[in-house]
Amino acid sequence: MAGKVPPSFTSIGLYIRSGQLQLPKSSVVEKFKIAKCRLVMTIRDSKDRKVSQAGIEIQTGRKWSAEEVVENAESSLKLRDIIGNHCIGRQCLGTSHFQQWNKANIKEKRDMGQKATREREDEVRKSRGVELGAQGAWTKWELPQRRLTWAEVWRMEPYRISFFLLSVYDTLPTPTNLCLFGLKEDPLCKLCVERGTLSHILSGCKTALTQGRYIGGGMTMFYRRLHRQWTKNVQKRPRRINKPSSIAFVKRGEKTPTMKETRETILQLAHTWEFQVDLGKRLQFPQVVYTTLRPDAVLWSTKSKKLIMVALSVPWEENCEIAYERKRAKYQDLLDSCKEKGWQTWLYPIEVGCGGFPAQSVWKFITAIGLSGNERKRAVKKLGEEGILLVVDETRGYELETKLEK
Ligand SMILES: [Zn+2]
Repeated sequence: MAGKVPPSFTSIGLYIRSGQLQLPKSSVVEKFKIAKCRLVMTIRDSKDRKVSQAGIEIQTGRKWSAEEVVENAESSLKLRDIIGNHCIGRQCLGTSHFQQWNKANIKEKRDMGQKATREREDEVRKSRGVELGAQGAWTKWELPQRRLTWAEVWRMEPYRISFFLLSVYDTLPTPTNLCLFGLKEDPLCKLCVERGTLSHILSGCKTALTQGRYIGGGMTMFYRRLHRQWTKNVQKRPRRINKPSSIAFVKRGEKTPTMKETRETILQLAHTWEFQVDLGKRLQFPQVVYTTLRPDAVLWSTKSKKLIMVALSVPWEENCEIAYERKRAKYQDLLDSCKEKGWQTWLYPIEVGCGGFPAQSVWKFITAIGLSGNERKRAVKKLGEEGILLVVDETRGYELETKLEK
């Protein structure tokens, strides 16, 4: 892996934990610092007074003092107790666990201290990422994080990993980057006259789009997976849920309602489904309404009058929200007219970023068709990988990769 990633690749890309892409590695410096902090806390909080009061000094060199870091981490944890737990984004009350510092025991405190130290290291990395204009573009993405495991890293082809890493940190040899490095005179795209930035090359070039360069073998695989996922889930029985989905308030004297209920997924609303995908522009919209629009996949049941539309887009990571809104607006009229005809209709615009990051909408869609837990995670991950395929398999992807070799 190291051989494929250029030496200019910064530690931010390799070790960050709060960024968009998490690699299964941690920095040696961080490990060293955490180990030293743990030592400080273990000795200080020892039950044996001979140990705790022996005045042992932890040596860490001149630039950095473990005692100071522990003190800072602890004071920030105490402050967090006062602030309390706050929700981020669309989180609901009680979705995340909050451990209070003053209620924790010694072992928990030690763990919390280590975690706070790690977070502090990560903050430094993240602030450096924000400073870097192009390489820190991921700080503006609003997508679920992606975590690579060692198993995945081993399974991926070396080119794929390097493409993945370099596209996240915008260090691929795109025309603008080559111009910046002094290897090319103009930063323009080969096909049109616009600037050849990474987002332009991967998803924004109109000439490449009209020449049909963006849709390749990956798309077929994507559809095949979607189809398999669907046929598998149609036969599934309704999932039992033991927990209520919201907090149930119970008045005094009343009994708690029984917890067992079943939740149907949309696929279980009908018995027979027909499925079509837009392969080679051959999709024919079912005889519900007349339309020239072609969503990427349609699933319908004539008997039960149910219709599901999926519209996939592969935009640049930063533009996922915009792509979602655009697809939604594009198919809204079709959705309304299907509803007017008495069909129960759903529309799922889904986005997989061209760098391989599935957006929140993909998670929502996968949940709706009845996947949960690990199965759901795996499905989303696969869709993400196919997102990269869409691009890497194309001639332009090869262009970028072969240049890496030299
Ligand atoms: Zn272009």
